[in-house]
Amino acid sequence: MAGSGTAQSRLDKIVTLIAAEMVAEVCSCYVSRPGDVLELFATIGLNPDAVHRTRLRVGEGLVGEVAATARPLAIANAPAHPKFAYRPETGEDPYESWMGVPILRGGKVRGVLIIQNQHKRNYSEDEVETLETIAMVVAELIVGGEIARPGEVASPTAVSLPARLHGIALSGGLAQGLAVLHRTQITVRQMVADDPAVEAERFRQAVEHMHRSLDDLVADHRAGGIGESGEILETYRMFAEDRGWLSRIHEAIDTGLSAEAAVQRVQNDMAARMARVTDPYLRERLVDFDDLANRLLLHLAGRTSAAALGTLPDDMVLVARAIGPAELLDYDRRKLRGLVLEEGSATSHVAIIARALDIPVVGRCVEAMRLIEPLDPIVIDGDHGNVFVRPSEDVMDTITKAIQVQAGQRKIYAEEARLPAVTRDGAAVSLMLNAGLLSDMPHLDAVGADGIGLYRTEIPFMVRSEYPSVATQTDLYSRVIDLAEGRPVVFRTLDVGGDKRLPYFAEIDEDNPALGWRAVRIGLDRPAMLRQQLRALIQGAAGRPFGVMFPMVSEVTELDAARNLFDREVARAAAQGAPVSGEIRVGVMLEVPSLLWQLDQVLRTADFVAVGSNDLMQYLYAADRTNTRVAQRYDTLSPGLIGALAETVARCDAAGRRISLCGEMASRPIEAMTLLGLGFRTLSMPATSIGAVRTMVRSLDLGHFSRWLSQVRANARGSLRPAIRAYARDHDVAI
Ligand code: PEP
Ligand code: MG
Repeated sequence: MAGSGTAQSRLDKIVTLIAAEMVAEVCSCYVSRPGDVLELFATIGLNPDAVHRTRLRVGEGLVGEVAATARPLAIANAPAHPKFAYRPETGEDPYESWMGVPILRGGKVRGVLIIQNQHKRNYSEDEVETLETIAMVVAELIVGGEIARPGEVASPTAVSLPARLHGIALSGGLAQGLAVLHRTQITVRQMVADDPAVEAERFRQAVEHMHRSLDDLVADHRAGGIGESGEILETYRMFAEDRGWLSRIHEAIDTGLSAEAAVQRVQNDMAARMARVTDPYLRERLVDFDDLANRLLLHLAGRTSAAALGTLPDDMVLVARAIGPAELLDYDRRKLRGLVLEEGSATSHVAIIARALDIPVVGRCVEAMRLIEPLDPIVIDGDHGNVFVRPSEDVMDTITKAIQVQAGQRKIYAEEARLPAVTRDGAAVSLMLNAGLLSDMPHLDAVGADGIGLYRTEIPFMVRSEYPSVATQTDLYSRVIDLAEGRPVVFRTLDVGGDKRLPYFAEIDEDNPALGWRAVRIGLDRPAMLRQQLRALIQGAAGRPFGVMFPMVSEVTELDAARNLFDREVARAAAQGAPVSGEIRVGVMLEVPSLLWQLDQVLRTADFVAVGSNDLMQYLYAADRTNTRVAQRYDTLSPGLIGALAETVARCDAAGRRISLCGEMASRPIEAMTLLGLGFRTLSMPATSIGAVRTMVRSLDLGHFSRWLSQVRANARGSLRPAIRAYARDHDVAI
């Protein structure tokens, strides 16, 4: 690879060398091209005219299969394989045996390397491994950006036009800055080593350095004190000690690889696994390992972090394929304006940290690293999942103004945070906060919220590496109530299962996790777990009032059973002489439609109802809330959901039970306005929405609107949104 000549001529030489070395009649290299296509770039043994002509889609033929699965494939009788796709122009008829390995780099398949033999040959595992190691070298040539089709310029020059990337909104807000590409990949130049003992020692030292630098990071971060994100880092620090991971790298060193190549080999295996894993939690943990592997490579190269390179712009938007929490914090927080990721999910550690730092994040931006150049101007809209790259002046102007307006709006909201949320005709509305991390608690004061309407207790469970003991939970709940400073707090018991996985629970494979074993269903099947949490809540409150509610209840008997467990814990505490408030309220979340027809019985047991509109909507409309294809299909302001909510409010009012709503619906002014019109007086939402909803409340004549709404509802067929929007415009309601 280090030889002279063009990239193409070097690749031609490489395939010849490989064929000779592996005793194969054919060696071919396919390179991934835009549009999920693999193109034959070099071959020895097949018809040379097929080069740059033979193309296969990912998933098509054996080559496409290797690319799709990111796994090697070795077959003694290839033409008999169901996936075999015959391409006459290649002249591959006489070759019976076939072995292909993916060319991986940075977690992506960059091509496929193949050898073929005329006679039946059972390729051994060692041979597969050898070809994989060679593929690591070939990856450098492909990813170096040097390789191109004839007549094409190799470096990506055609991308300097403005571009708009769309991804998923992981942390809200609008920001602009210059792109900094987070490139952690170190080019591994030496693949094999003479002396495994020397490599093992180099590896040991690098691991030690890495542990020390992570310890410093954890300590620094603790000193900065942003709640659970410190714990996230500690969890991450524990991954760095994972014996399975470290010993796999040792094994690779023992086979004769250099320490760097060994780390990269295990990293590639993880990347291949990652491509097959659909569970978001597991994927994120694999990202953590990927991040650690990059760190190790840096330490082996004698550097400490990827962030410390060169001078960084004062306003920077970081662009990364995936980034671990520690790596994000390596960057200067004062300069960091936003984050664009090719991967990422709402539960990823880095998203939780970014929200705590209050910077916008857009995830799943496909090919961001390829399309964005260093120091490109970037605008990031974390509320809508948009990233504008090299925006035109017009766009830049509009967005700069929007950022100013947003800043101005934030100022107004901050000023208005002390004003009561009362409508023009005098109806008082309670604006509560949805929280889940200790770092959410200071927002109570900042936005002037009336309390915590939903404390998602699973979040602290999800960021830990082991099941928290009763003492740990007690301490946590006690601190939440302390930080609420007398305002009401409603804790929701553990809502895990479905897509919310705990790292320390065995994975359960379910065809329909959203309809599966989750939330209170687990709590009632494993009552010890639920009782421990209820005990911790009672102890943590230490005589102070609080609310507790159960998620995903679908039958009155489930609510009765859960309440019974709670009452037993109260009795237990009282028997031990522990203080217990007489004002503990026990409620139910309305998320499963079956409860709608049992409300009267439910209200005999529950002190209050909290509508979880995210889940209620998904079950009412049979539309997976995480599936973007159906997300826009059913409007929240359609008669179905609105009718169910109106009836629920009426029934709760009649029974003298409090009702609130804590799904995303409450956070958007037009929806919040509609909910008030239906009779809701308590809404719970993320901190960032309270300002806008308060302004809406203060501009609304609720009596007039409610009367109008009930007339409109009576005749509605489709979504009420256009009519409500027109009403708001005509009556100066600030939506
Ligand atoms: C809901 O379902 O609306 C809700 C508030 O709960 P979660 O979003 O945590 O499922
Ligand atoms: Mg829910």
